[in-house]
Amino acid sequence: MEIQYLPNTCLRKKAAKVLKVSEEEKRILDEMAKVMYLKGGVGLAACQVGIDRQLVVVDIGDGLIKLINPAIVKKEGLENQEEGCLSIPEAAVNVKRAKKIIVEYLNEQGEPIKISAQGLLARVIQHEVDHLLGKLIIDYLNPLKRLLFSNRLTIRKL
Ligand code: ZN
Repeated sequence: MEIQYLPNTCLRKKAAKVLKVSEEEKRILDEMAKVMYLKGGVGLAACQVGIDRQLVVVDIGDGLIKLINPAIVKKEGLENQEEGCLSIPEAAVNVKRAKKIIVEYLNEQGEPIKISAQGLLARVIQHEVDHLLGKLIIDYLNPLKRLLFSNRLTIRKL
């Protein structure tokens, strides 16, 4: 597995839903976790390694969570914080996200799970769910900064 970087179009696609959780999904999730740890990330979506499936791994330092077909069903509060992305190493973007969320997903056994998350965990899950929709942190920039970024006129801090 290789990390896919912008402007790779796979990062802009809506990821396909997993219809049945099989051994293959488990294998992909394990590989994704390895890549995430190797790159020092706190979350990774399958499209970031070129796989068109709704698979996400997250670990903010208190254990690995594997999410299949994650969907945020409730959002509460707003918080602004700087984020990075393994697929856009040169970007650091302030993103306004919900403070608290409720997310539904399938676990590796294909069982439906519902958890509430807040703080960093909520932020990372929202970032990864964005990936599954083809949405990236640079989409939260204002139009001018976004244009500058896409023209590669700015380097580090946006
Ligand atoms: Zn990302």
